[in-house]
Amino acid sequence: MEKAYKFRIYPTSEQETLLQKTFGCARYVYNYYLNKRMTAYQKDKTTLNYYACSADLTRLKKEKDWLREPDKFALQSALRNLDDAYQRFFDRVRKGEAPGYPKFKSKHDRDRSYTTKFTNGNIKVLDKHVRLPKLGLVKCRVSRQVEGRILSATVSQKPSGKYFVSITCTDVVQESLKPTGAIVGIDLGLKELCITSDDLRFDNPKRLARSQKRLARLQRQLSRKPKGSKNRGKARIKVARLHEKVANQRRDAIHKLTTQLVHDYDLICMETLVPKNMVKNRKLAKAISDAAWGEVARQLEYKTQWYGRALIKVDRFYASSQTCSVCGCKGSETKNLAVREWDCPNCGAHHDRDVNAARNILAEGLRIVNAV
Ligand SMILES: [Zn+2]
Repeated sequence: MEKAYKFRIYPTSEQETLLQKTFGCARYVYNYYLNKRMTAYQKDKTTLNYYACSADLTRLKKEKDWLREPDKFALQSALRNLDDAYQRFFDRVRKGEAPGYPKFKSKHDRDRSYTTKFTNGNIKVLDKHVRLPKLGLVKCRVSRQVEGRILSATVSQKPSGKYFVSITCTDVVQESLKPTGAIVGIDLGLKELCITSDDLRFDNPKRLARSQKRLARLQRQLSRKPKGSKNRGKARIKVARLHEKVANQRRDAIHKLTTQLVHDYDLICMETLVPKNMVKNRKLAKAISDAAWGEVARQLEYKTQWYGRALIKVDRFYASSQTCSVCGCKGSETKNLAVREWDCPNCGAHHDRDVNAARNILAEGLRIVNAV
């Protein structure tokens, strides 16, 4: 089993200088070979693959001295990332989707990171430090015991200026949970975070709503500050910090939800996407609920794997809150989103629309399982 452990790190000013250089060099290598691959294709329709770029990097490092200062694996993994971006691009072209060509990385992008590989004990997690290649011991808040064999470490800096390290380990022993015999369908909403087919409700935390309001206010203040001014820089950091806080609060709420679900149920059914009509076309609300959906899916995917549970994703068509989960009859008056409860005109069952949707998701999930 693979597992990632993320900790905050506190580099010294010398370490910070080297970190910034490494981010910069990794970005330079990424952009240099993106440009090279683009020109090769435009010139004679050839594709420069990862290995060709990797061989060329040796030449480039002889030419540009400063590329030899930072961790060499950081440059290698920048090439890897570029290749992954290309693979995703080719996939989209194959599927006939909008291609979205790989983009150059901007110096002004404040989400910075690089990845380094484990070799000969160059990465180590101690009590209050991590050992990283070229950096040596970096002060670190180690909040959990790291288990398994270390594969790699990703060092990142968030727009707020904080630094983190994420250590990826393999061969982590994880015991499956005992079967409970219970199954569940979940409906993800905007008002509540989640409603289950057992009529359990998980609310979005109140403090999250408060932080979101404050964030909107700070963002308005930021937009009024003149570009390039000192106050704008200060306001930007304030916004970035609160952004991170909101993201953390949301992630924590989702962790609580997914941990409980995985603990209580052997089989969990969820929809593939949040139905568009649920958010009434409000752009911000939509972005928030989509982000929450993605995070719930991500956490459930790895947690069900860790603990030996099953996760079934159901086409959102079946997530309908308008189909009676008892008799399968399609109600018509429930199209109005304001109607929270309704009675089935066919069998007379009384429904809460969200619980009903969760039950339809569960029924469709079970149909998929039994069809296999
Ligand atoms: Zn019915």
